[in-house]
Amino acid sequence: MSGNVLVVGGGPAGLAATKSLAAVGRSVTLVEKEEILGGAPIISGYAKLVPSGEWASEAIGRMVRVVEAQKSVDIRTSTRVSELTGDAGAFNATLSDGSTVSAASVVLATGFTHFDSVNKPEWGFGSHPDVVTTTQVEQMISSGKGVRCPSDSRKPERVAILLCVGSRDRQIGREWCSKICCTVSANLAMEIREELPECSVYIYYMDIRTFGLYEGQFYWRSQEEFKVKYIKARIAEVTFDGKRVLLKGEDTLVKRPISIPFDLVVHAIGMDPNTENPAIAEVFGVALEPHGHIRRESAYDSVAGTSRAGIYVAGAAIGPETIDDSIAQGQAAAMAALGTTADAA
Ligand SMILES: Cc1cc2nc3c(=O)[nH]c(=O)nc-3n(C[C@H](O)[C@H](O)[C@H](O)COP(=O)(O)OP(=O)(O)OC[C@H]3O[C@@H](n4cnc5c(N)ncnc54)[C@H](O)[C@@H]3O)c2cc1C
Ligand code: SF4
Repeated sequence: MSGNVLVVGGGPAGLAATKSLAAVGRSVTLVEKEEILGGAPIISGYAKLVPSGEWASEAIGRMVRVVEAQKSVDIRTSTRVSELTGDAGAFNATLSDGSTVSAASVVLATGFTHFDSVNKPEWGFGSHPDVVTTTQVEQMISSGKGVRCPSDSRKPERVAILLCVGSRDRQIGREWCSKICCTVSANLAMEIREELPECSVYIYYMDIRTFGLYEGQFYWRSQEEFKVKYIKARIAEVTFDGKRVLLKGEDTLVKRPISIPFDLVVHAIGMDPNTENPAIAEVFGVALEPHGHIRRESAYDSVAGTSRAGIYVAGAAIGPETIDDSIAQGQAAAMAALGTTADAA
C-alpha cells in the first residue's frame, strides 16, 4: 500500500494540491498532458490576472517553481493516465508511457477547455481576422506586441468586447455563466485604454457580473477612470463592410437597432467542460454532471469528493471557476486526499 497521491493536471488547482501535499511530506506523482505546467494561464498566455494585476507568467510561474523544487514530487509532463485499477488506499495507475504508479488517492485537477468561437458563427469569428477572442488579446498583451488588428497590424481606434460568448446561451447548449469573463473583459478594456489612449472601447453585455468586490475595482473603475463604455444590447450578427467589422443588433435599453463599425471585435469566450471529460470519467470511474463537468458529490460534507471513494476533484474541472477559488479547492482536495491516505495506510 502506498501513501503516494496521484494528482492529474498541473494548472492552478493541481499545483496547489501538489504543493499542500508536499508541504506535509507526502509523495506526489503529478501527471500533466502538456509539455509544461501552469494550466490555462500559462499555456494560453494570459496577461495580467484579475484581481491581483500580476502577470500570469509571474504569479503562476511562481507556483510552478515551488512545485518543481519539491523532492517528493515526481512530475510527468506530456503524459496521461490510461488506466486506473484498485480502490481507495490502493490504486494502481498505468500512464501513457507504459509506466505504473501506485497511489492511495487521486486528485483530478483537469480543468476546462476554452469555448471555441467557431461554434458561434453569426458573430464573425473565423470569417474575418479582426474578430478575435479574449485569449488572443491576452496573448497580444503578454507577448509585448500590443493590441493590433490581425488583418494589417494597425492600432485599433474602436474596439468592441462582446460578453457571454459561449456562456448563458441555451441555443448552443451552454447555459452556465463562466463567472470570470465580465471581470476579465473590464480588465482587458482598461489595459487596451492604457496602451492605446486614443482608442474607444465598448463592452456589449446582457448583464454585468463583476461579482463581489470586483464591482468597484473593475466595473466602476473601468468607466470612471478609463472611460470604457458599457452598452446593454442583443447582438444579432457581426459582418464586414469592406473596411471595418460591423456589429449589428439591438440596443436593448433604448430599443433601437444598431449597426456600428469597429476595427477590432473581441469575443469574451467562456469556459467549456474539458473536452476530455468523457474519457477521464471512464478511466477514473467518476460521474459527470449533466453539462459534462466532473461531478462533485457535496459542497459541505466532503468538499472535494467525487462519485468514487478516494478520488477527489478541484478547480475548473468542477465547473467555471476563478484561479483563487481553484487554488483553494486544490488545497481542500489535498486535505481530503490526505485523510483517505491516512485512513487507508
Ligand atoms: C480568457 C480567460 C481569462 C481568464 N483570466 C482569469 C484571471 O485573470 N483571473 C482568474 O482568477 N481566472 C481567470 N480565468 C479562469 C482561469 O483560467 C481558471 O480559473 C483556471 O485556469 C482554473 O485552473 P485549473 O487548474 O482548475 O484548470 P486549468 O488551468 O484548465 O488546468 C488544468 C490542467 O490539466 C491539464 N489536463 C487536462 N486534461 C488532462 C488529462 N486528461 N491528463 C493530464 N492533464 C490534463 C491541462 O493541460 C492543464 O494544465 C480566465 C479564463 C478565461 C477563459
Ligand atoms: S461572467 Fe459575465 S461575460 Fe461571463 S458568462 Fe457570466 S455574465 Fe457572461
